[in-house]
Amino acid sequence: MLETLPKWIHSQHLAVKGRNLKGQVAISELSERLCDNLCNTDGYVQIDWQFILDDKKRPTISGQVETQLQMLCQRCLIPVVITVNAKVALVVFTEEPSQYEELPPDYETITLPNKPVSLLTLIENELILALPVVAKHEICPSNEFQMQDEAIEQNDNPFSVLSKLK
Ligand SMILES: [Zn+2]
Repeated sequence: MLETLPKWIHSQHLAVKGRNLKGQVAISELSERLCDNLCNTDGYVQIDWQFILDDKKRPTISGQVETQLQMLCQRCLIPVVITVNAKVALVVFTEEPSQYEELPPDYETITLPNKPVSLLTLIENELILALPVVAKHEICPSNEFQMQDEAIEQNDNPFSVLSKLK
């Protein structure tokens, strides 16, 4: 059973308590920053995020964000389902960190004010980062139709009729 996710979170407080946030939000609840890139906002985004202090007592967020988004294929303009299964690994700073700040391996920084922030905006940021630069099918369905058309043409080829008459 997934617990209801809070709308606002205070990552510093959650990290001190070592809390875990696991649940889902409807894609349609996310803003146009994400939704304008989608051709359909059905479905849900699942998150499983652990908030914990690292060995330097800095708040961190780590876990997964998973969903399936429908975007328009830039090759054939037919919707393509993009499966997002992205790793989240962030060290939270309240001020822009110096570039010399040491981070755990594979972690990135995020600057958040020391007050509650919108969880939806955080989820949205992670999804936008995970979106492909250009959405496209591995094999466009329209290409399959073209191949079928070619197969039909070959059957109607007058020469194949001639060869039958021989
Ligand atoms: Zn396509």
